[in-house]
Amino acid sequence: MPNILDTEIKYLPGIGPKRAELLGKELGIFTFRDMLYFFPFRYIDRSKVYTIRELQPTMAYIQVRGKIVSCGMVGDSPRNRRFVATLQDPSGRMDLIFFKGLKWIQEKVKVGQEYIAFGKPSEFNGIINMVHPELNLPSDEILYGGSSMMGVYSSTEKMKNSGIGNKQISKFQLTILEKYLNSIPESLPQYLLQKKKLCSLREALKNIHFPTDNATLAKAQLRLKYEELFYLQLGLLKQKSVRMRREGGILMPKVGEGFNKCYSSLPFPLTGAQKRVIKEMHSDMKSGRQMNRLLQGDVGSGKTLVAVFCSLLAVDNGYQACIMAPTEVLAQQHFKGISKLLAPTGVSVALLTGSTKTKERKELLPALASGEIKVLVGTHALIEDVVVFKNLGLAVIDEQHRFGVEQRSRLWDKSVVPPHVLVMTATPIPRTLAMTLYGDLDVSVLDELPPGRKPVQTMHATEVQRGRIFAFMKEQIKAGRQIFVVYPLIKESEKMDYKNLQEGYETIIEEFKAPEYITAVVHGKQKNEDKQHDMDLFASGRAHILVATSVIEVGVDVPNASVMIIESAERFGLSQLHQLRGRVGRGSEKSYCILMTGYKLSKESRQRIELMCQTNDGFELAEADLRMRGPGDLEGTSQSGLAMDLHISNLAKDSQILEDARQLALAVLESDPLLEAPANALLRTQLSLLKKSGIVLVDYSQIS
Ligand code: ADP
Ligand code: MG
Repeated sequence: MPNILDTEIKYLPGIGPKRAELLGKELGIFTFRDMLYFFPFRYIDRSKVYTIRELQPTMAYIQVRGKIVSCGMVGDSPRNRRFVATLQDPSGRMDLIFFKGLKWIQEKVKVGQEYIAFGKPSEFNGIINMVHPELNLPSDEILYGGSSMMGVYSSTEKMKNSGIGNKQISKFQLTILEKYLNSIPESLPQYLLQKKKLCSLREALKNIHFPTDNATLAKAQLRLKYEELFYLQLGLLKQKSVRMRREGGILMPKVGEGFNKCYSSLPFPLTGAQKRVIKEMHSDMKSGRQMNRLLQGDVGSGKTLVAVFCSLLAVDNGYQACIMAPTEVLAQQHFKGISKLLAPTGVSVALLTGSTKTKERKELLPALASGEIKVLVGTHALIEDVVVFKNLGLAVIDEQHRFGVEQRSRLWDKSVVPPHVLVMTATPIPRTLAMTLYGDLDVSVLDELPPGRKPVQTMHATEVQRGRIFAFMKEQIKAGRQIFVVYPLIKESEKMDYKNLQEGYETIIEEFKAPEYITAVVHGKQKNEDKQHDMDLFASGRAHILVATSVIEVGVDVPNASVMIIESAERFGLSQLHQLRGRVGRGSEKSYCILMTGYKLSKESRQRIELMCQTNDGFELAEADLRMRGPGDLEGTSQSGLAMDLHISNLAKDSQILEDARQLALAVLESDPLLEAPANALLRTQLSLLKKSGIVLVDYSQIS
């Protein structure tokens, strides 16, 4: 039986093909379901009507009721042209101002007519007005089905200009609900609704759009959030359980010569966390199932070593391993470090990146195909089709957030039996987000830094302190330390960014004159040789200062560097700042991070900078980031390939519900792993809906 919610939106009375197209394009609404699941993002209490005299600029969205006494266009230049309508009620008058959608509003507003204006009061030259209020006729009241709280929907300029504002959307919702409410099928099994004491879908949909009071709204929200998070978790966990049940992971039981030799030649003991994590991975690798594990560890927690030991487990058991890094510079650095670690073992390791010469490739590729090369380190170049392994047993992906899901699965295709996969990320991901993003992966956490690390002292400075900072830099250099100076590189303003970097570099070589001081510079516009040359200059300790863009430096390891100066720090996100800071504080010396910003900072930027100065804990910062910015903006999520298409839940605020929904999903799958029970048929149908919408991360069925 077709679900009424699948009906195309153009069939709703009041929406023809043209409006349907607009709704699809602007809001992604194609079906009745899309419309009903387009929820208000705010509600206005309609039971309260303010008088104009009561209004304060500090008020949130409110409504006033009055008559338009005059209106017209004001302003002579196109820039300040606006439409002003004066609204009067018994207590006073106020201007309603419109800068956009002028044509439409001019036609709509009639002098002498009574309106209810919804909006946020603002103040201009000490006088209260309202910019871009919604205007409704008092007769529209009936629209909201007697609900005392009116939903406010987000809309776009284009939609408003075509006359589809809040009121229209409310009307569409009401039409669907009035006509079809009783045909909407339930989307959660009855037994779950009862168990969790959730209201029915019909009740929830009605009350999310037209709540009578806060309590009914809360019930509706809870039900819809629960449903959303439950299916998300069920989808992810089901994939995981399918994977777990599939036998055929490569068996790697042996801890052999390579592993032991490397272990005994380490200049320091492994941290407890490193040992634990390596054990966790080994138990996956000998389980007979494919490993899919995410390793989270703050910057400097020693993930590389974990990758090396896992690679050695693969090699000791007769397989090859590859380690993939997001940038050329990082791959080269990994190659150097890993070669050093592997030297005592005699295990052969090679490097393959985009800039590997054709001649070298010609030697490398056959050696890889014959199995002569055991460990391959590289960049994206690794997933090209021409790269063929003899028997790839383990793929390690470093700095996950730069790799899309598709690239991950291409790597998995490189072997008949899927190789074990270890994904490493230095971006600490808050638990709730990890459960959503990586619910399909097992997670290990390196929660311990190698001993002797001192917290990095973090300070905030502005241009006036530049002189003192230069003096401080000189002191540090005199004491034998090295210094990073990092400039933001943000795609949209790339040109300006390079200009800033160039100017900054020139100021530095002016202040820090050669030959007393050597300054290296690294950025994306350089030739690879130049980049490599300057990186080496710094890594080898010959250069005192490295000026770089934020993209280049990720992951470079120069323990002697003790100062990180971040220019225009307000332009970075918290986790990015934290990553950059993690480049220092690796040696035994006390380290410093200086955040340079402009004088004027937005409230949010100031909060970020303050947090950075307060804590060195990556997880704490990540949690704060999630709270402050919401998950959509979190670094990595947009590139992760996961459509974070949550309609109603907020990962930062709803972690409790998420946790509970996950437990429930686990319980359901435990008793019915493939969802075959008749009582769970509905779950299967709903899951396939979810898949269509692209929410589920990786489709494991494609891999084997
Ligand atoms: P990340 O997790 O950021 O990738 P790395 O693997 O680059 O960290 O390690 C950071 C630094 O810590 C490296 O210089 C590495 O040699 C060192 N290191 C790793 N493990 C240990 C350990 N157990 N004891 C001391 N130093 C370690
Ligand atoms: Mg690393």
